[in-house]
Amino acid sequence: MMVPMKIIWIFLILFLWQTDPYKSKREKMVESQIEARGIKDESVLEAMRKVPRHLLVPEKIREYAYSDMPLPIGEGQTISQPYIVALMTELIKPDKNMKVLEIGTGSGYQAAVLAEIVKEVYTIEIFEALGLRAERDLQSLGYENIQVRIGDGYQGWPDKAPFDAIIVTAAPETIPQPLIDQLAEGGRMIIPVGEEGKVQELILGEKVKGKFRTRFISSVRFVPFLRDK
Ligand code: SAH
Repeated sequence: MMVPMKIIWIFLILFLWQTDPYKSKREKMVESQIEARGIKDESVLEAMRKVPRHLLVPEKIREYAYSDMPLPIGEGQTISQPYIVALMTELIKPDKNMKVLEIGTGSGYQAAVLAEIVKEVYTIEIFEALGLRAERDLQSLGYENIQVRIGDGYQGWPDKAPFDAIIVTAAPETIPQPLIDQLAEGGRMIIPVGEEGKVQELILGEKVKGKFRTRFISSVRFVPFLRDK
């Protein structure tokens, strides 16, 4: 049976159009960087297989989007290493009913990973240029459950509090009290704490019967938590 060339071409074009060249890179990233290091939460693995990280980094470094390292995103800031995003997301025990606050929107990648799993994401970025870019990119990817605000995240987002979880992606020297206050009963906070340029501690906090209890998770290095003057 002869198949007309025209039909073959149509199928070929449809096939190429369907294949996301970054999909296999993303799957490899999840397998070799995330699962291999012990992340087990299926919702986190699934979200990271889905979010197009390459569309949230500056175009000229797109080819490195799925590498095992943080990358520059402008204003001296970085998008975190994929494993760190996975670890922080798993530690808050995300589920579909949660309302989560993120401090440090940056590229919007962590917010997108959260938005794949939880109900609502509120994220605050101190650099206007970064916040606006992330807001635009997240919108064009179709995320309707993320709200971006420009400002100093130290004060949290009081009118949307309490939050079931808070993820802080820049390191303050001590945990901001307003963030502790805005955590719901039973809520979890994951935050790097320490001095600029030094090794910091990734801390997991939990509010139990009104008391905020913390424990050390690992040593990390994050950009500093800045303050509006
Ligand atoms: N979560 C980001 C990581 C960005 S790095 C991502 O997925 O890409 C941390 C970000 O925190 C930077 O963009 C930095 O500008 C921002 N930041 C630092 N101090 C802040 C503050 N006080 N309030 C809000 N954002 C802050």
